[in-house]
Amino acid sequence: MTLTVGPLTADTGRKVRGTVPVDLGPVTAGLPVTLVDGVRPGPRVVLTGGVHGGEFAGVDAAARLAALLTPEEVRGQVVLCPVANPPAVYQGRLGTSPLDGVNINRVFPGDPDGGPTERLAAWLFAHLLPGADAYADLHSGGIDETLTDFVGYRLTGDAALDATARGMAHAVGYPDVVLGTDATGGNSHAAAARRGVPAILIETGQLGDRDPATTATLLDGLFRLLRHLGTLDPLPDPQPRPTREWVWAASVASPATGLWYPETGRGEDVAEGQSLGRLVDPADGREHKVTAPATGRLFYGMHGLPVATGAELAAIATPYTATQPDPPDPHNPEVQ
Ligand SMILES: [Zn+2]
Repeated sequence: MTLTVGPLTADTGRKVRGTVPVDLGPVTAGLPVTLVDGVRPGPRVVLTGGVHGGEFAGVDAAARLAALLTPEEVRGQVVLCPVANPPAVYQGRLGTSPLDGVNINRVFPGDPDGGPTERLAAWLFAHLLPGADAYADLHSGGIDETLTDFVGYRLTGDAALDATARGMAHAVGYPDVVLGTDATGGNSHAAAARRGVPAILIETGQLGDRDPATTATLLDGLFRLLRHLGTLDPLPDPQPRPTREWVWAASVASPATGLWYPETGRGEDVAEGQSLGRLVDPADGREHKVTAPATGRLFYGMHGLPVATGAELAAIATPYTATQPDPPDPHNPEVQ
C-alpha cells in the first residue's frame, strides 16, 4: 500500500527521505521525514523525535534509525520524523517554541486555525497518525531537567487498546514503565490514544545528554519495540527484560518565581512531606520550602536554577499493580 506524507510518497519496497514543508503561518517549517514501505505486509509504525528542543537522544536515535532501516527487512511501514518541532529544536533548545512560547506537548491534537505551534501539532496528527497501528514519541530530560529513563503510556478504558500500549511499553525493555490513569491532556501519546492509536512515550537521557551510549540505549529499545510489533523479524533467542510498573502520583509546581535549590535527585524515593528543595527569592532571600505531596519515586526534576511560578519541579510515581483499583486521587503530571 502506498505510503504518503505531504509531498513524499513511498510505494511497496521503497524508502523515501526528504524535507516536508509545513505552513505555520509566520514561517514554514521543514520537517525531515523518512518513509520505509516494506516488501512484506505488517503494521504501520510512527516514530517522532524532537517534539521538544534540548532533548537530543530521541532526535539522534530516530535519525540513525531512519538511515538504517531498509524495505527488505521491514514488515509493513515505518514513518520516522526525527525533528517534529523544528522551531523548538533548532532555535529554542527548550520545551517551548520561540515562535509563540507554546509547549507543543500540551496542545496535541492541535488546531489547524490556531497559532504556529497549535498548527504544527494539528499537521503532525493529520499527516502522521492516520492509519498508524503504533506510535512512539521519543523524549529526554531536557537541558534543564534531570530524569531517570522510563517508558510512559496512558489508560483509556479501552481494554484492547490499553493492552497493546502496555505491551509496547514493556517491550522497550527499560526497567521502569510509568502509566497515567487517564488519557486526558495535550501530550502526544495521550492525544494519540484518544484517537485509538496505541501510543507510548519513551524518555531517555537527561540534561541535554548526547552521549552515543545514551542513543545506543534508546536504539536498542526501539529495535526491541519494532521486533515486538512484528516490523522486524524476532531474534531467535529473545531475552525479555524485567520491568516494574508505576503510576503517576504527583506533579510538583513551583509556588513562586525564584532560585531553585533541590535537595533530592532523580530515581530517589521520597516520603510525603519530605523536603524536595528550597526556593529562594533573589530580591530578599526569603525561602519557600517545597515538600513532596506524595510518597514515591522521583522520575524527573528541575535542574534549572531560576524558575518561574508554575514550573514543574518534580514528578513522583508510586508502584502500580494492574489488580489494584484506581489509586486514590490519581493525577497525571503533564509529562515532558
Ligand atoms: Zn520532552
